[in-house]
Amino acid sequence: MDVVYPRRKTREVHVGDVVIGGQNPIVVQSMITENTRDVEACVQSITRLHEAGCEIVRVTTPTLADAHCLSRIKDTLTARGISVPLVADVHHQGAKIAEAVARTIDKVRINPGLFVFKRLADTIDYTAEEMQAARQEVETDLTPVIKVCKARDIAMRIGVNHGSLSDRMTVTYGDTPLGMVESALEFIQVCEQQDYRNLIISLKASRVPVMLEANRLMAGRMDEEGMDYPLHLGVTEAGDGDYARIKSTTGIGTLLAEGLGDTIRVSLAEDPIHELPVCYDILQALGLRRTKVEFIACPSCGRTKFDLTTVLAEVKSATGHLAGLDIAVMGCIVNGPGEMADADYGYVGRANGIISLYRGHEVVKMSVPQERGVEELVDLIKTDGRWVEP
Ligand code: SF4
Repeated sequence: MDVVYPRRKTREVHVGDVVIGGQNPIVVQSMITENTRDVEACVQSITRLHEAGCEIVRVTTPTLADAHCLSRIKDTLTARGISVPLVADVHHQGAKIAEAVARTIDKVRINPGLFVFKRLADTIDYTAEEMQAARQEVETDLTPVIKVCKARDIAMRIGVNHGSLSDRMTVTYGDTPLGMVESALEFIQVCEQQDYRNLIISLKASRVPVMLEANRLMAGRMDEEGMDYPLHLGVTEAGDGDYARIKSTTGIGTLLAEGLGDTIRVSLAEDPIHELPVCYDILQALGLRRTKVEFIACPSCGRTKFDLTTVLAEVKSATGHLAGLDIAVMGCIVNGPGEMADADYGYVGRANGIISLYRGHEVVKMSVPQERGVEELVDLIKTDGRWVEP
């Protein structure tokens, strides 16, 4: 039985030839780590990520020189026939950089906490005049960027990070999810004043509960304000290894299951190519995108009729390329058939050395010697016309 998560209604925002939002599949993205001035290294890294399934690639542009290099990177990719949307990541005092890079790139990410980077010396509170002046400065700096984005009909991500909220927001709202939301809303409002709505919003934090709360709050506020901007989800600075994957899955997966999120990035302190399988696995586990076989396997117990780890590896090796199928490997016929989770095919232990093969709930090969089990399973899939050559 397929369960469909009601998805928050969002507008479609085009990033190159990829569409984020609406009913489009959740988009997977990542970011390269090379120095942007090393154009060839960046081109190679982007190509590698793209070939591994990265649908949008982000590149840092800390200076105008980097913005210029990113344009060269794009030109080089185009000349090599590689079409992957590129996002320029703009942070400190980013107005001039964002304006320059928006002339050539598919999407600009700006960080509201750093875009107009200013700290009032020794100030623990902001007067109403200082707040107003700061908002005016945001408007002044953001307007030229918006004009270019509008003219080229490209996208902008308003990407708030918990760790880099502006002084002004922290003083006013605290270091809180609410401060993150207000920070994003301020920039959204400036864009809307100029009738620019190709926006994607992100609120990232390293702490999962903060990230969850900020995104829920943001979605609620956008609903109240009649805003339908897509959300980009991620747990930032998640670290590395298993725990980073668990943090990312917990944060991103929880929100996706609540219907929030239109594009995701898993941030690992590892080679970014490792981020892509995690993204796709989150989407697969939630049934939002099917990019590989869904294997179901029991944990094995005293009833298991074969070495489950070995058999599962053999079945995976033979059928792992059949994206879209559900295949179960279950240790016994007592509980196995009932717990195969509606798999398309089941490989189930019947007696020592004997297995049964199932198509859905139906036994189609009752007694197969285990040594022929995988071969017979492949034959069954072929007979059903569902086999493709690896
Ligand atoms: S399916 Fe059978 S072998 Fe597997 S865990 Fe359940 S009872 Fe044990």
